[in-house]
Amino acid sequence: MNLDFDADDQAFRAEVRAFFADAIPAAWSTRVRAGLRLDPEDLTAYQRMLAARGWGAPTWPIEHGGTGWSPTQLYIFWSEAARADAPAQFHQGLELIGPILFTYGSAEQRAYYLPRIISGEDWWCQGYSEPGAGSDLAALRTRADHDGDAYVLNGQKMWTSYAHVATQMFVLARTSTEARRQQGISLILVDMATPGLRIRPIATLDEKHHTNEVFLDDVRVPAANLVGEEGQGWNYGKVLLDRERMVSAATAIFLPQTVRGIRDAARRRRIGSVPLAETSGFAGKLAQFEIEVIALQTMVLRLMGDAAAGADSGPRGSMVKLRWSDLIQQGTTLWTEAIGPEAAHWQAIDGAPLAEDMPYPMQGALHSRVTTIYGGSSEIQHDIIARRALGL
Ligand SMILES: Cc1cc2nc3c(=O)[nH]c(=O)nc-3n(C[C@H](O)[C@H](O)[C@H](O)COP(=O)(O)OP(=O)(O)OC[C@H]3O[C@@H](n4cnc5c(N)ncnc54)[C@H](O)[C@@H]3O)c2cc1C
Repeated sequence: MNLDFDADDQAFRAEVRAFFADAIPAAWSTRVRAGLRLDPEDLTAYQRMLAARGWGAPTWPIEHGGTGWSPTQLYIFWSEAARADAPAQFHQGLELIGPILFTYGSAEQRAYYLPRIISGEDWWCQGYSEPGAGSDLAALRTRADHDGDAYVLNGQKMWTSYAHVATQMFVLARTSTEARRQQGISLILVDMATPGLRIRPIATLDEKHHTNEVFLDDVRVPAANLVGEEGQGWNYGKVLLDRERMVSAATAIFLPQTVRGIRDAARRRRIGSVPLAETSGFAGKLAQFEIEVIALQTMVLRLMGDAAAGADSGPRGSMVKLRWSDLIQQGTTLWTEAIGPEAAHWQAIDGAPLAEDMPYPMQGALHSRVTTIYGGSSEIQHDIIARRALGL
């Protein structure tokens, strides 16, 4: 992969930069600059705006409505988005189920669902984890039984993020019981408005409602909602998890927003007459953090290069996920340190109070605890690296 930008890349960068300079309302960039995720309505509006420009699915091939961009173009797009304090797109439809549908889905599923993901019409959630099945996902017990031309789902999903705003959920469920637990698991699409589906919110450490329990009681969905072949869900699910790790990796390109946030806060805060940013202790910590962010971004570029070349990236997805989750936790913690005791209080950002929100970065620091748990916990990533990189 060539990391030098040629004339075409530079023209592309200018085009993307001009787009972002116009496109992002101040209310969004203020939130993003403060490190907060946009509300679902705003993220949907952002998705619509990108779709109108033809950039709704930056990582997808052209034949499925994507941009067909090279890794270099993707990198430029994401780094310009980060530079303009634009948000990251919501990923569960775009990066998790969308690619599975265009790879394994039926022609009808592709024709119906893919355009709705790009346009922002559908919001997807991921129904994998269960009370007894997280790291050990093959222990899942939700059943999908055949009944005429339908599947009837019964069971409970756990930690289903954004189920309360989603229109669709992709579910791993057991369609048969085999000796090997990974067999007999199928991937099924469920409309969230289907009778028998009930959602119970879970409040997280950051005092927000992101995630839920989902109860499925005789939820009847058409048999045509099966993705690919019955009993092959585990294989599709694994592909999805690998991609999820890559997605968290791509968000590493947004980490410079955190670096800027820390630096701004440390410049504003004074220790005696000296800005905190100029004290050697803090300046050293910030420099170290920034160096690690740059190193991680280089690793992400290699990962993107592997993906574009169709090469197996081995355990690199796990390595990047592990590193990114550590860094986002370190970064948000350092940001709270830069703000000092004020971090625990309500605080105006750019002069505008963010009603109903705890001040960032406290909220971000609390929420970032989840990054070492979801998408495969850090211990699981260590296991994968030990097996695939070290042959242990
Ligand atoms: C806020 C939040 C949002 C989430 N969103 C979603 C979602 O949208 N959809 C979804 O399907 N899931 C979601 N998850 C679930 C997430 O993927 C699981 O929490 C995760 O896989 C861990 O599973 P568990 O919670 O059951 O913990 P366990 O698997 O019970 O793990 C408990 C501890 O044991 C360790 N451990 C387990 N097995 C091993 C092993 N083999 N070797 C070493 N250590 C091990 C783990 O690392 C962990 O520290 C979310 C979780 C959270 C907290």
